Amino acid sequence: MEAALDRPVLVLNRLWQAVNTCSVRRAFTLLYQGQAQVVYNDQDNNFLTHDYESWRDFSQLNPEPEMVKTISIRIRIPRVIVLFFFDRLPKKEVKFTRHNVFERDKNTCQYCGIVFDRSELNLDHVIPRDKKGQTTWENIVCSCIPCNTRKGNRLAHQGGMKLIRLPKKPKWRPFVNLTFNGNLHDSWKHFVDLAYWNVELGD
Ligand SMILES: [Zn+2]
Repeated sequence: MEAALDRPVLVLNRLWQAVNTCSVRRAFTLLYQGQAQVVYNDQDNNFLTHDYESWRDFSQLNPEPEMVKTISIRIRIPRVIVLFFFDRLPKKEVKFTRHNVFERDKNTCQYCGIVFDRSELNLDHVIPRDKKGQTTWENIVCSCIPCNTRKGNRLAHQGGMKLIRLPKKPKWRPFVNLTFNGNLHDSWKHFVDLAYWNVELGD
């Protein structure tokens, strides 16, 4: 049962916005303390909420093959919980990393507009370093190796090249920033899609 207790549960804030994930173990603690409710998506696509007692009773009436066993009862594994007390999205800066620059630029060379495998992309200083170009969100873009070579230590226009869009610091909601390994549980999809569409774009 160890593995089941470590499995991720999607956490919604009071406004039903996806904010995080926690372990099944933590979800049960929050439920038990009355700080959260289970969100259950029924066959008719209604979202029903259960507190600890009602989730326990629901589990007895609708058992699943996989349940968490305690001393006296077997209880279903929650997939989504909603918090009572948390009504904001945590502000988190998007880390300036190679991975996140590739994410922002969608693995696309910002000069020729072609999508490449990450191994075939470089990070390019738009204003070269020896012309006081900084290593910042606004001055670093993905570039394929041919474009990178062609541009060399010049400004793009000097090589007859143009950026397909101006690089900016992305404003991602923290949840969208989470990377999922493996598949999303079906019951997460509604909330994760919602988080995706609610991302602020540009300024
Ligand atoms: Zn290119």
